[in-house]
Amino acid sequence: MMDRLFAPDSLFSKNFFFLAKRFVPGETIAAALAAVRDINASGMSATLDFLGEDVFERDAAINTRDAYLHMLDAIRTSGLDTNVSVKLTAMGMLIDEDFAFANLSQIVEHARANADPFVRIDMEGSAVTTQTLRIFERVFASHRNVGIVLQAYLRRTPADVARAIELGARVRLCKGAYSEPEEIAITSMPAIRQAYLAMARDLLARGVYPGIATHDLQLIDAVKEIASELHLGADRFEFQMLYGCRPHVQQELVRQGYRVRIYVPFGTHWAGYFYRRVLERRENALFALSSMFSR
Ligand SMILES: Cc1cc2nc3c(=O)[nH]c(=O)nc-3n(C[C@H](O)[C@H](O)[C@H](O)COP(=O)(O)OP(=O)(O)OC[C@H]3O[C@@H](n4cnc5c(N)ncnc54)[C@H](O)[C@@H]3O)c2cc1C
Repeated sequence: MMDRLFAPDSLFSKNFFFLAKRFVPGETIAAALAAVRDINASGMSATLDFLGEDVFERDAAINTRDAYLHMLDAIRTSGLDTNVSVKLTAMGMLIDEDFAFANLSQIVEHARANADPFVRIDMEGSAVTTQTLRIFERVFASHRNVGIVLQAYLRRTPADVARAIELGARVRLCKGAYSEPEEIAITSMPAIRQAYLAMARDLLARGVYPGIATHDLQLIDAVKEIASELHLGADRFEFQMLYGCRPHVQQELVRQGYRVRIYVPFGTHWAGYFYRRVLERRENALFALSSMFSR
């Protein structure tokens, strides 16, 4: 039902993009690069995500892979400071693991020609965590310009953090955006924060250039303290935030001398992403509602 509602050709997607505009700068690469230009001008870098997930047809996965190859060329010619983030279910992981591995490998290989060659694999729901990490390790074995996302709410994640540290792989640490059952995930916010900070500490102390992805002021302040305790220079990690979320905090961090990267999603499959942001925070829903009345 949700799939139909959120498909790019649905009535909702065709008529309600203005609601998502705060979180998704547009449907085209040109709109995304224009947003990156502004982000760079305010002292931050970016990562571009071509929206789409849960692909069940080979042609759709190939089209998404080709969109990434094209996007990497466009980034290179633009001279802008951004890398890319990829979802493996959009690369065909639910169809065939080897197929998704081949698609991802092509993107990671192609990215090597860019000033920032890094490719981040986003983390999706727990049904695909193991498979995602398996494909990541296969690509990482021959390409160091690829990294992963780990979700602090999953009970398995401390072990995955330890493995990433052992490999010397770059990790983006986030709380986790999917609805997961109590048996495999921590569900209370204070406990998620506690887990997040323990893993952030490990990654800052022993990991490679961690991405601290959160808008949570408590976590941001605690991470600053850990970094200072560890005498880490500002070039040893980066804060990461989503396009449109807490712009004042983003700018304050830049002013304080921290590195900040903005995650910029774009494309016609914006509805599912927008839905997750609205579910996550009441104020995001209020913002969307207010844009209905301020058109
Ligand atoms: C760059 C980036 C990439 C991500 N990639 C992934 C991914 O690959 N996989 C995945 O599962 N998830 C991903 N996420 C989403 C992430 O898992 C969380 O769902 C999302 O970031 C919300 O959690 P939060 O830590 O930002 O803070 P929230 O849980 O949104 O906020 C926590 C607290 O912050 C404070 N706060 C936040 N906003 C405000 C405000 N406007 N005013 C006042 N107080 C406020 C409040 O105290 C609030 O309780 C990503 C997030 C980011 C930033």
